[in-house]
Amino acid sequence: MRCEEVSELLPGIMDGVDQANAEVVSHVETCLRCQAELAQYRKLLRVLHQLRAQSLDPPPGLLVEVLAQLSDAAERGAMRSALAGRKLAYLAGLAVAAGAAGAAGAAVILATRGRGGKLPLAS
Ligand SMILES: [Zn+2]
Repeated sequence: MRCEEVSELLPGIMDGVDQANAEVVSHVETCLRCQAELAQYRKLLRVLHQLRAQSLDPPPGLLVEVLAQLSDAAERGAMRSALAGRKLAYLAGLAVAAGAAGAAGAAVILATRGRGGKLPLAS
């Protein structure tokens, strides 16, 4: 199995959409390049979980930090292929979506408070 094939499968596996098969697992276990890529995903997922957990008040600059780390990784040449370009866009999209979800949650809470605690749809 080649790194290109593994890196194509990683996003789905990390998302829980795809299952890692034995071939992928044994490749990653022996391949430093793919391990480094996996570590990047883990780091990003951890940040996304933190964003979700505190969706009301994500620390300012956190998203910017994530995106900066992504560009750092790109600059270091860790993800040089065209595939990597697509993956960065994918990851950036995930991060933006998580941020938007947090903002939407805050908006709902604010709207709820404005109506004396009733949900807008319930009145
Ligand atoms: Zn590899």
